[in-house]
Amino acid sequence: MNDKPVGIVGGGLAGLSAACVLAGRGHKVVLFEANEWLGGKAAERVQGGFRFDMGPTIVTLPSVLRRVCEEAGSSLEQEFEMVRLDPQWRSFFQDGSILDLVQDEASMVAAAERFAPGTGQGYAGLLKQADALHKITDKYFFYKPIGGISDMFRATDYFKPSVLKAIAGLKISQTVGGMLRKHVPDARVAQMLDHYTQYVGSSPENSPAVLCGIASMQSKEGVWYPIGGTRAVPVALTRMAERLGVDLRPGCGVRRILHEAGRVVGVETTAGERVELSAVVSNMDAVRTHTELLGGETGQRFTRRRKYEAACSGVVLYLGLRQRYEHLLHHNFVFSRDPHEEFDAIYKKGEPAPDPTCYVCAPAVTEPAVAPPGGEALYVLVHTPYLRPGHDWKKMLPDYRRVIIDKLKKTGQMPDIEERIVCESHLTPQDIHERYRVLNGAIYGLASHGRLTGAFKPSNRARDLRGLYLAGGAAHPGPGMPMVLMSGWIAADALDKDVKTTVAA
Ligand SMILES: Cc1cc2nc3c(=O)[nH]c(=O)nc-3n(C[C@H](O)[C@H](O)[C@H](O)COP(=O)(O)OP(=O)(O)OC[C@H]3O[C@@H](n4cnc5c(N)ncnc54)[C@H](O)[C@@H]3O)c2cc1C
Repeated sequence: MNDKPVGIVGGGLAGLSAACVLAGRGHKVVLFEANEWLGGKAAERVQGGFRFDMGPTIVTLPSVLRRVCEEAGSSLEQEFEMVRLDPQWRSFFQDGSILDLVQDEASMVAAAERFAPGTGQGYAGLLKQADALHKITDKYFFYKPIGGISDMFRATDYFKPSVLKAIAGLKISQTVGGMLRKHVPDARVAQMLDHYTQYVGSSPENSPAVLCGIASMQSKEGVWYPIGGTRAVPVALTRMAERLGVDLRPGCGVRRILHEAGRVVGVETTAGERVELSAVVSNMDAVRTHTELLGGETGQRFTRRRKYEAACSGVVLYLGLRQRYEHLLHHNFVFSRDPHEEFDAIYKKGEPAPDPTCYVCAPAVTEPAVAPPGGEALYVLVHTPYLRPGHDWKKMLPDYRRVIIDKLKKTGQMPDIEERIVCESHLTPQDIHERYRVLNGAIYGLASHGRLTGAFKPSNRARDLRGLYLAGGAAHPGPGMPMVLMSGWIAADALDKDVKTTVAA
């Protein structure tokens, strides 16, 4: 389509998604990845006969993955063996009670009502509200390069009744936490639903209510597990990219994005090679792309326009257990005693929560081959603040590991967990920062804080340099597997449209 190829900086899920879409549409593509593996955070660790997904484990919105597969000339069915997980999660509360989140709305309404009388109708009301929010985002927000409300609606459309209705429907005066509690007064059920915002590493007390739409998406499309783990996703994307002739270069970092007269002309690799390119999709964190790969006036324009805050970080324990726990489902949340105290510590004080929520993944429930017979490759994730000055996780980890293990013993009802561990390793915020070159150790890109601006991340069509496109958790529409796959699609689609418009002109 163009003599010079398109370059992609970073081979995370977003970069791979962009590569598949661009190559599927006939572009020559070269992808530079600093690490020796492709897939970024969707990495795996094999240890002592156990196989762990190191990063993402909860797969939602398979329709996005389907779309990327189809763009690459394949299909979801051809590339994956997907298993639906229903119940979606098991929730363990401090008072010893347990509630499962099930997909079917009527069944969940009945379960919530049995669990806390008066809650069933509240759950139904919340889902109705979430459906309405999801409809607005589907129409105005998804699959489009958006950087702010002005990209969602054209100025001339502001007085159209349908647009006014959509803006009012966004409920911009409300937060996720506020909207949930208006519908669901039971503290435990509300705490369970709060955790949809943990998919974006942000506090429900400070995130715009529009994120409640996640509840609708999860209830409509379900929660899935690809056999082979979430690692199967980058493996399949790599396979499709290779089939389409993408020049994949793992172990090759990019030091600078080169530009002339306000337009991208290539990149310089960390080995000093200069590669001429017609355009670049950066899957590196959007802030670091501007400050480190561009710098100068172009980078400063971006940082001056808006101050972005990193989303939360996390500690992961990978625990090889000689014996499974029968009371666990594939996905489990072991909740903190007090969500306000927890979110205040992580998001305001910038300290690890004294009594955290632990997300516990037990994949042997669905795929026993992840562990030796009868065992479990237990994965425990606790959200922590993004890295602050003075955080030294080499020193902090031993004490915090003890807090996590005690929480699993008591609230998670695993009193003998230490006797079952046969191998153990971990990932800290510092490791996340160094392995994935993110902003201050953030797991999920940029925080979604602020009622007016929280939902908006940098647009996929970069504002400060022609020929630069952004994809990944720190670009629109945000973090999490489906959203970063979508961001790769949007960046590729915007680039493809721009090229076609230029050719036609
Ligand atoms: C512990 C953990 C648990 C998670 N759980 C879930 C979950 O259950 N469900 C879910 O949906 N999401 C989850 N997430 C979030 C999800 O993993 C991310 O949103 C997603 O994988 C990010 O993909 P990405 O492509 O934006 O970035 P990344 O995966 O960070 O990839 C970016 C890539 O770019 C490379 N790179 C950066 N700079 C350069 C450069 N200059 N030159 C060359 N290469 C460069 C990096 O090495 C990296 O490989 C989790 C994340 C973590 C860490």
